[in-house]
Amino acid sequence: MTGIALLGSTGSIGRQTLEVLAAHPDRFELRGIAAGRASEGFTEQLAAWPRARAWCAEGRPADISPERWAEGGLEELATADGVELVVVATTGMTALPAVLAALAAGRRVALANKETLVTGGHLVEAALQAAGGDPLERLRPVDSEHSAIWQCLLGERIEDVRRLVLTASGGPFRDVEPGALANVSPEDALAHPTWRMGPKITIDSATLVNKAFEAIEARWLYRLPYGRIEAVIHPQSVVHSLVEFTDGSYKAQLGVPDMRLPIQYALTHPERLPSPARRQAPEAWGTLEFAPLDPARFPAYRAVREAAARGGNRGTILNAADEVAVAAFLGGAIGFTRFAPILEGAVERWGADDEPALEQVAALDAEVRSALTLDLRPRGAA
Ligand code: MG
Repeated sequence: MTGIALLGSTGSIGRQTLEVLAAHPDRFELRGIAAGRASEGFTEQLAAWPRARAWCAEGRPADISPERWAEGGLEELATADGVELVVVATTGMTALPAVLAALAAGRRVALANKETLVTGGHLVEAALQAAGGDPLERLRPVDSEHSAIWQCLLGERIEDVRRLVLTASGGPFRDVEPGALANVSPEDALAHPTWRMGPKITIDSATLVNKAFEAIEARWLYRLPYGRIEAVIHPQSVVHSLVEFTDGSYKAQLGVPDMRLPIQYALTHPERLPSPARRQAPEAWGTLEFAPLDPARFPAYRAVREAAARGGNRGTILNAADEVAVAAFLGGAIGFTRFAPILEGAVERWGADDEPALEQVAALDAEVRSALTLDLRPRGAA
């Protein structure tokens, strides 16, 4: 039995993780569970998983007994006795200290949250170096693209890789004329063609900031420079990503777009088990298309990649600024074409070449958030 702690249980990835655990009760034991809000869904999860210790960012709900409550929060759950693998499915950068604590305590981490590496990749890298061993055994990607690359790299040598090619669905605006993007609504942006996800990542998929964040994630997971991490539009989301090798040969990983597959693989690697995901034969995929990613249509993608390549504290800034911009867009305070200038402006204002320590990451994150929230408040607000 593998002891699991699940951080972020009520979001899309958290719920699907519980489906995977429930499909294999002989293999996994949920030892810890945490959510941001004490929602009805969380209460139901607590009842369904009575052996898991629990924590909620909002404070202890009445239905969690004091014995069950993990006073030390995410870090306590992630490092508890009996927990071997921590699934990180929180939103934002809240789990960064818990990820660092888990790695330091010798736990494996299955990372579904890209903000952790975007904002603190250098800290995670240092923790992995200190832990020793194969970093991909300790820090396992759940994001479908990175799971695909991981699977393509099995049995290969990283020095034989020419480049990683992340696939991008292109989001709902892949065929909209760039000139028309100023007038798209939050509802338009939330209508993702293939994946059903939370609002933050869905908007990030429409701007392709999500894909630029995935390049940052890949840079830390696979230790390749940004010049060897590219992206291609692939509307069907069947090819989850590709690796090109020095001889010109490609490997790709394909499958039905269902996050329970990469979640489960991160839990069972190197084994594979039957999955609750629907199976699909290749005949059902039809035509698979690939097209270049047009930076003119996705200026925020380019802005994030250029800033990230300059390193230093810029990942932290990009992460915080994007979160504020997404909230402002969803609230109707800014238009869709403002993402790139807001991200560039934030990097211009706060960017520095030194990599920040954990306390500095938290302070910078808070500063960028509060300043930009004020800058981007809806017109007419005090
Ligand atoms: Mg992804």
